[in-house]
Amino acid sequence: MSEDRIENKSRRSFVGAAAVAGAGVGVAALAPGLKLIEVAGAAPRAPGEPASSAVRWGMLIDTTKCASGCDACVKACATENGINETVKDARQGSQWIRKIDLKDPKTGQEHSLPMLCQHCEHPPCVDVCPTGASMKRADGIVLVDRHICIGCRYCMMACPYKARSLVHMPLTEQNPLVPRGQGCVEACTFCVHRVDRGQEPACVEACPEKAMLFGNLNDPASEIAQRVAKEKTTQVRADLKLNLGVRYQGI
Ligand code: SF4
Ligand code: SF4
Repeated sequence: MSEDRIENKSRRSFVGAAAVAGAGVGVAALAPGLKLIEVAGAAPRAPGEPASSAVRWGMLIDTTKCASGCDACVKACATENGINETVKDARQGSQWIRKIDLKDPKTGQEHSLPMLCQHCEHPPCVDVCPTGASMKRADGIVLVDRHICIGCRYCMMACPYKARSLVHMPLTEQNPLVPRGQGCVEACTFCVHRVDRGQEPACVEACPEKAMLFGNLNDPASEIAQRVAKEKTTQVRADLKLNLGVRYQGI
C-alpha cells in the first residue's frame, strides 16, 4: 500500500488553527482560559502537515490499576465521539472501547481491562478492505474513511479483536470533529482529532486510576517507550505478529 493511500488527507483538516499557534511548545494557549497539554514526544501537527512515520502512537494499559466495574474510559469515549444513539438490540450498538473481565482458569487470577482497536502495524482490516476506506496513517493510527466505506463489513470479520462496529441507524447530535454515519464501519481512532492538536485521547484523560498511558513508541525519551523497554508488557494474540500499538501490563 502506498504512503499516499495510508495518509488520510481529509482528516488532517481536523487540525485547528489553534494547533498552529501551539506547534512545538509544551502547552498551547488556544483562547483565554483554554489550554492544550501536549502529549509527551510529539508536538501538535500544523494543518496540511502530513503524519510522520517518525512517530508511532501507542497506548500502554496497566491492568493492575484497572478496577473491575469502572467504565470511565468507555463513557469518556462515547461522550468524546458522539456515540449516543439508543439501539433496540444491544448487539448492534457501536463499541469503540469495552471493558472485559478475564479469569485465569489455572490460577484463578482475575483481570479487568479495556479492549479497543489495537492499531496494528500490519492491520488485517486494511488488507481486506475492497475500497481503501480502511487505512493506516504513517504514524500508526488505523482509521476508516466514512466517505469511502460501503459497509461491507469485511474488516469486521478480519479483525481478531472484534474492534469494529457498523452503524445501524441514522445519527444526530454528532461531534463535528468525529463524523459518523449509518452504514459505515467505525472503530477507535486513538482520538486522532485530539492527538493531532497535542491532546491525549479522551479515555486516557478520563481514567481515574491513571492506568492508561498514551505516547510515541518511537521516541526513546517518551514515558511509554521507556516503560515498554523496561517492564514486561503483553500484546494480545502476539502469535498473530501484527505488532500492536496497544500494550498491556499485568496480564
Ligand atoms: S485491532 Fe482490528 S480494527 Fe484495529 S487495526 Fe487491528 S485489525 Fe484493524
Ligand atoms: S482513544 Fe479515543 S476513540 Fe479510542 S477508545 Fe480511547 S476515547 Fe475512544
